[in-house]
Parts: sequence; C-alpha cells; structure tokens
Amino acid sequence: MNERIRDLNAGHLPRLTHTRPDTHSPRTDLTAMELFGCPGMFFTVPGTFPSDLPQHITHTYTDTVYAVLQTLDPVTGMSQYTVRDVDGHRLRLGEPHPRKSDAVRSALDGLALFRRDHAAQVASRRVGCHLPPVPSVRIGYDTGAYIVHIHCDCSRVRGFAAYFEHFSDAGDWLSNNSDPWQLCTTSPLRVITASGGGRITGTRRDEHGIPVVEVRHDGYDHPALMGTDEVLDVVTRA
Ligand SMILES: [Zn+2]
Repeated sequence: MNERIRDLNAGHLPRLTHTRPDTHSPRTDLTAMELFGCPGMFFTVPGTFPSDLPQHITHTYTDTVYAVLQTLDPVTGMSQYTVRDVDGHRLRLGEPHPRKSDAVRSALDGLALFRRDHAAQVASRRVGCHLPPVPSVRIGYDTGAYIVHIHCDCSRVRGFAAYFEHFSDAGDWLSNNSDPWQLCTTSPLRVITASGGGRITGTRRDEHGIPVVEVRHDGYDHPALMGTDEVLDVVTRA
C-alpha cells in the first residue's frame, strides 16, 4: 500500500518500517534491535491525529515515531507486541497484544484518548481565564492568500498557520507576512472601532504592506481606511 493513502484518521493502520523513520534524529537507520534490544518495527503518527481536535491544539503536535516491539508476556511467556515511544522516555503506549496490528490499534486509541483529554483540559483552562473554549481568530493559507477566520462557521481551517484571541494581534502577524489577505466568507463584518460601530467593506494592504481594513461607520456613506489595531472588536451581530 502506498504511504500517501495511509490515513490514520480514516482508520488505516500506519505503515511499518524496519528502521527508524526520518525524523529530527540524525540517526534514522537504526533497527529496533539496536535501539531496544528486541525485534520490532517503527511507525509514525502525524500531529494531526486524531482529526477531531481543535487546530490550535494539533498545531503544537509534531509527527511522532513509535516502535512496535516483539516481547514476551511476563506471566504466560507467550510472544506479544508492545508499542513504545522512540524519541521520548520510551513509555509504553496502549496495551500489549499477541497480534501486532492489535497492539498498534491499542496504541493509537490510547494516544487519541490522551490528546482529547489534553484538548479538554486546555478548553477548561481557557474558560477559567474568561476566554472562549477555542481562540476567536484563526489564520489559514489557501491559494496564495492568508484567510483570516473570525468567529466563523469553519470547523477546520485550510493551511492552518496561526491563531489569536484578537483581530489586532492577527493584524500584527499579517504585517510580518507579505502575501495578500482576506476574511473568511463566513466571518462577521460588524466591527467596533474607536470611532464607533461600523461594517468592514474591504481588506487589503497599504503602500507599506501593512494590513488595513475599509470600515463604513454607521451613518456614513463612505468607508474609512483603518489599521487592524484600530478595530477593537469584531462582533457576530449582523
Ligand atoms: Zn472561516
């Protein structure tokens, strides 16, 4: 099977290799016998697994290498398979099984459980700090432009690049990245600025490349050009 179509989030098992896969480690040609002293194979779990976690969480995960090792059950003396992490503390992941595929599945289940629990703890801590469970502003990258998602309906953001609590922080980030930018089509356009309420009618960069918004304030016919730092809030009310 081609590695490209191994999708752990679709329930596929990862591709197994006889030597340690290419990671941050300078030595990738080592076997399980050399690393662990017993026979085994290696597999990689992407940071995007499982797919139901918020992207500001999976954004912090990198691809991780695990080994599925042929060991002996200490009680029965029968052969079994045990999954351990390779680059960390070699902790066991999931439960040992007589079948290799069952041991790998158990490890994936255990990792998904651990990461979901972590995501729930982060959400809970955010709410404790009077923040929404997930950040309000997410930035993605799609077909040559940054897309800024604010309070929008997108469950996943294509090309997820950064996240912020406030639009002005996203503006600072965009100042350091020169590609065009726009708002997601489902982001609300109603804004509160230092000059009062209004509606975003356009997004672009000024002659210095600084991201700016066109805001038509309530009661005015023509839009005013404003820096993103002048937008105090983007609100969901139409
Ligand atoms: Zn969106």
